[in-house]
Amino acid sequence: MISLDIHRYDPIKEQYFDSVYASLGRMNYAKYHVSKDNLFIRELVYTLYKCDLIKNLVDKNNDKYYLLTYHAKDVDIFKDEMLSAAVRSLVLADVTVLRKTVEEFMKGRAFAEWCEYDRLRNTKAIKKTAVEKARELQLKDEYGFLLYFAERAYDNMRKQRIDPGDGVSAEIPKCIVSALGIRTCPYCNRGFIGVTGGQLLGVQLDHFYNRRYFPFLAVSLYNLVPCCGVCNHIKKDDMTDIISPYEDNANFDKAVHFTYEIPKASIKDPDGGKRRLSIEVSESDVIKRQRYQNNIDMFRLREAYEFQEIEAERFYEKMLAYPESRLREIENHFKENSDYSVTVSNLEEALFREYFADPSDYTQKPMAKFYRDLYYNIKGWKR
Ligand SMILES: [Zn+2]
Repeated sequence: MISLDIHRYDPIKEQYFDSVYASLGRMNYAKYHVSKDNLFIRELVYTLYKCDLIKNLVDKNNDKYYLLTYHAKDVDIFKDEMLSAAVRSLVLADVTVLRKTVEEFMKGRAFAEWCEYDRLRNTKAIKKTAVEKARELQLKDEYGFLLYFAERAYDNMRKQRIDPGDGVSAEIPKCIVSALGIRTCPYCNRGFIGVTGGQLLGVQLDHFYNRRYFPFLAVSLYNLVPCCGVCNHIKKDDMTDIISPYEDNANFDKAVHFTYEIPKASIKDPDGGKRRLSIEVSESDVIKRQRYQNNIDMFRLREAYEFQEIEAERFYEKMLAYPESRLREIENHFKENSDYSVTVSNLEEALFREYFADPSDYTQKPMAKFYRDLYYNIKGWKR
């Protein structure tokens, strides 16, 4: 519903990576017989290789790509800079890379096996055959690390502190929300979320590509979307192809509109004549249009905003009662009868101030897009 400015992460993203990398370096995963530095990170890079993920994450023209894929099986000989380059490409992958990585992962063998493991893991022991039990153990050996990574690495990351730039360090989730400077949920734009008095208020971090099916993206910065509890709960493990608020070439403001209208009654449409609030998508690219629609459907925005239909109605009545011609009359009345000057725009502001919104308000004011769209819609303005 609202696009977020990824450049707001520029001041913190290197710190984010350094902090996550250091915390991964301190983690244990007891699989190696020999003692070696960065064991956990070695296991991570090896798993990325094994799941055929490196090729989408690391730029193929980079010499580290060659070294990584060539030596991946012999993870012991990785140099620290190679490990760091691989993890960096995972942790700071942009939205395009994330999407491509996910698409490719879903086509591969590793995804099918990971899903099989997930299914067996979530089946009660008593309902499993001996063959299934054996298969689960086998898959655990292959993919157990990913499960551990998804849970532990994320929990660890949340506790790390970085300095968002004011000399005071804070836990990463707070820094993420502060850096974005958002005060409403980007998925629904309905409620307040944010950092108040150093505390997170109503914010949850959504894994855009969920941790259940894409565990390796558990700490990827652009996979974390601060949102309200309702949206996070609704979305959960759903894998519908929606548009990320970080997606650079998406423009919700242009493509998605709230409209409020009175359709003409007809035999076919008994509801005609009754005012209707709707959310429309205007986008010529068929696939993209469907993806915008998926966002509306997934977060049940049509239903969610139905609560606000009464607001739309009030707004509509007020706009009808004070058309521009009437405001012009009032302006003239003041001009002729008073020293005090009142302009049409003064009046509009006084009457509709609560509805005025600018696209820059979308991340700051709940419902800002809703009101702005209705204002344009009722005025009959094209955008
Ligand atoms: Zn929300």
